[in-house]
Amino acid sequence: MTVITRFAPSPTGHLHVGNLRTAIHNWMWARRHNGRFLLRLDDTDIERSRPEYADGIRADLAWLGLTPDDEVKQSDRFALYEARFSELRAAGRVYPCYETAQELDLKRKVQLGRGLPPVYDRAALNLTPDQIAAYEAEGRTPHWRFRLDHDAPIAWEDMVRGSQHFDPKLLSDPVIRRADGSWLYMLPSVIDDVDMGITHVVRGEDHVTNTAAQIQMFAALGATPPAFAHEALLVGSEGKLSKRLGSLGVGTFREQGLERQALIALLARIGTSDPVIPVADPAPLIAAFDFAHFGRAPARFDEGELKLLNQKIVHLLDYDAVKDRLPDGVSEAGWLALRPNLEIVADITNWWRIVTGPIIAPVAEAEDAPYLAAAADALASLPFDAGVWPALTERLKAETGRKGKALFLPLRRALTGLDHGPDMAALLPLIGRDEALKRLSA
Ligand code: GLU
Repeated sequence: MTVITRFAPSPTGHLHVGNLRTAIHNWMWARRHNGRFLLRLDDTDIERSRPEYADGIRADLAWLGLTPDDEVKQSDRFALYEARFSELRAAGRVYPCYETAQELDLKRKVQLGRGLPPVYDRAALNLTPDQIAAYEAEGRTPHWRFRLDHDAPIAWEDMVRGSQHFDPKLLSDPVIRRADGSWLYMLPSVIDDVDMGITHVVRGEDHVTNTAAQIQMFAALGATPPAFAHEALLVGSEGKLSKRLGSLGVGTFREQGLERQALIALLARIGTSDPVIPVADPAPLIAAFDFAHFGRAPARFDEGELKLLNQKIVHLLDYDAVKDRLPDGVSEAGWLALRPNLEIVADITNWWRIVTGPIIAPVAEAEDAPYLAAAADALASLPFDAGVWPALTERLKAETGRKGKALFLPLRRALTGLDHGPDMAALLPLIGRDEALKRLSA
């Protein structure tokens, strides 16, 4: 069996970090099983769906490196929904309803007032042809519900939540189609999952009740339901569903200069029993990915943790992964020398300016002036190769008896203008002989 997953966002807005997490998990599960990862754009809501949001979703997935093996749009598939709807109608599994929103609301209030669950009473199933004719004469057109089978208990083994049981009598028959003929999410999703051969549906736990009804839709369409993994939702570091999370997406992460690898490494593992680890290559995360490791408690997303993880990952990135984004002239040696001092890749600009100069060095302490002159002389006579820094400091140590801070700090200050920074052994060859001599003699 080829594993096939799908990420099914509605192109009615930007993807937020919770959506990205779902996308990443769908992708990882497919990749782990050498399966297929599909993008399905749930754009049945013609009013609210926008091509620019669909483009944004594609761009976000591309930035993350989650390349879908195929893409479908629900708005291309109305004929299929219509055909399958007709079958369900012929089989008596969908039925027309004429209540207005206000009438339904009133029914619910009465039920709740009596302490009853607000389950739809199926009044529409008992309408006489005359009553229907009267509604139609009033100009009412029906919306449609899927008739749940009250005699078929609903159960599935959720990959995250374990055994799930629902009594269909306690569920309302879901509305699947509006009076204007447009589709709600429930049925088209199942028709597509069947048609696209989806083997695993991975989504948030806010869909658990939908799944209960959808399991009966799979059966009514003559299909075996896929496996389900309903993940606990994502919350902010303070443990609550925050507004901030809803606004965080690829746009913000890119503006902050964060790497896709950091987002993947974090979102792959928060909410699981696996430790979050800094890896630039997701292969080990994919190999170990398992829904059985997910907990039932909400996953906490902490922006501070993301930044730290990002920093650790930047320190692991190869030159090839970043070379297109580096300032002109930064060689592989330059990248490797400066990488350990970066929080984000863009920080390299400042360090590179220190390499190329000009720098503004603090005026040397009086007692350091002869020391720096000696350093310039020593440097002038040493071969300027990869070993020049240890050779220089060894010689100065022997000549002057200085050690530790007194040996190193005046040199660093004169050569970089700063008290701290990248390893001088890597930096000095980048600065170059002439420029280094100039700085020591300044
Ligand atoms: N469009 C639905 C959503 O974004 C898809 C849910 C699903 O994965 O079936 O919630």
